[in-house]
Amino acid sequence: MADVTTELLYLGSMDAAYRKEFDASIARRGENYLVLDKTLFYPEGGGQEHDTGILRHAHGDTKVLRVEKKGIVKHIVDALPPADTVHVHGLLDWDRRFANMRMHTAQHLVSGIAYDLFGGARTVGNQLHPDRSRIDFRPAKFSDADLHQLETETNRILAKGLPVDLKFESRTSLERRVKPDRANLDLLPKHINELRVVEIGDVDACPCGGTHVRNLGEIGKVRILGKSSKGAETVRVEYELAAP
Ligand SMILES: [Zn+2]
Repeated sequence: MADVTTELLYLGSMDAAYRKEFDASIARRGENYLVLDKTLFYPEGGGQEHDTGILRHAHGDTKVLRVEKKGIVKHIVDALPPADTVHVHGLLDWDRRFANMRMHTAQHLVSGIAYDLFGGARTVGNQLHPDRSRIDFRPAKFSDADLHQLETETNRILAKGLPVDLKFESRTSLERRVKPDRANLDLLPKHINELRVVEIGDVDACPCGGTHVRNLGEIGKVRILGKSSKGAETVRVEYELAAP
């Protein structure tokens, strides 16, 4: 079977991440999933959780329970629609998606600020959820006072309401203006040369395929909940967001 490439409709611009509905055609059916020719559903990846929602069609509604990207983008559904279904109208669970967008942009900011404040504490992992998220830093040894400082500085920048933008840029161009380990550029596979860079005002620039808010004012405040040790020099920091 020829492989299907799904056009990712949320990728092209900041505004595209705010679209909630789309039309698409079914390109392939699996035993519990559908592959579409295009989609707004974000597949799990880069620390950000997958979207959920509905695919509306001539026979009714099909629920999207999970979305994964393993070569192809699979919309895992509660039940396959009847075999003659071709066109679908997708509707995102927007509350969940928007919570993920706020969390993801907040993560970029917390990661960048921690790197600057604490001598190059790198982000080596993250897991973002709509309600509470975590970031792993290494090398790091944060005291309670350090975490307080991280929270205060993050909220100071959040209160500025800086714009968040996308820039499509070559790797060499980005390497000239950011520290490669601050933006985890050295961990990107070598063959990737065209980058999608998420820029927060003039305070952060980081390659990312996720969905983000257009302005820091949409995030509210970061509340750091605590830390735990995850091995030598690795600290996990948990946070949640308070609505603006
Ligand atoms: Zn990201």
